[in-house]
Amino acid sequence: MNIVLMGLPGAGKGTQADKIVEKYEIPHISTGDMFRAAIQEGTELGVKAKSFMDQGALVPDEVTIGIVRERLSKSDCDNGFLLDGFPRTVPQAEALDALLADMGKKIEHVLNIKVEKDELIARLTGRRICKVCGTSYHLQFNPPKVEGICDKDGGELYQRADDNPETVTNRLEVNMNQTAPLLAFYNAKGVLTDIDGQKDINEVFKDLDAILTESGQ
Ligand SMILES: [Zn+2]
Repeated sequence: MNIVLMGLPGAGKGTQADKIVEKYEIPHISTGDMFRAAIQEGTELGVKAKSFMDQGALVPDEVTIGIVRERLSKSDCDNGFLLDGFPRTVPQAEALDALLADMGKKIEHVLNIKVEKDELIARLTGRRICKVCGTSYHLQFNPPKVEGICDKDGGELYQRADDNPETVTNRLEVNMNQTAPLLAFYNAKGVLTDIDGQKDINEVFKDLDAILTESGQ
């Protein structure tokens, strides 16, 4: 069961990834974790990646793809894996197909968790943090008892600059433009399924699970 999980920030990808990984006992492979592990293990590619990152430069595709290849070759991926954050572009997706073909594997499911832009903006701008203790609240999902005030210590709640509507909207638009060609690529291959991410967490997982179970593995 080789899966790519997609979804814009705020779509609930992390939560669903945890659930899929738990049920199907496959590793959750996120780009960040993969890089950190390669750097920590001091592999040749890890060292290369680090030299680019230390300069604040983008890691070139050949290095990233090499790291993906090393990771997917590990034995814990024998029964499948859940990729998250990779591929980001069509060339990366083509390289992924090629390296999987070398291993006699392919991507079976690309699951795209879809949430309306307005809802994503509401989710992503709703976070409020206590100035005193740093406790995080959410206007929609985990509101304080009194608006603007921390339940624990009466501290004032503030919104981080990253969470303001303009920054959030901009981040979403950049992300949408980047992923559109990738979604079209997987759609053309017939492996893409859109999942309604506006339902509650358990309903979303039920839908994902139905797709994965249907594939009859
Ligand atoms: Zn507080």
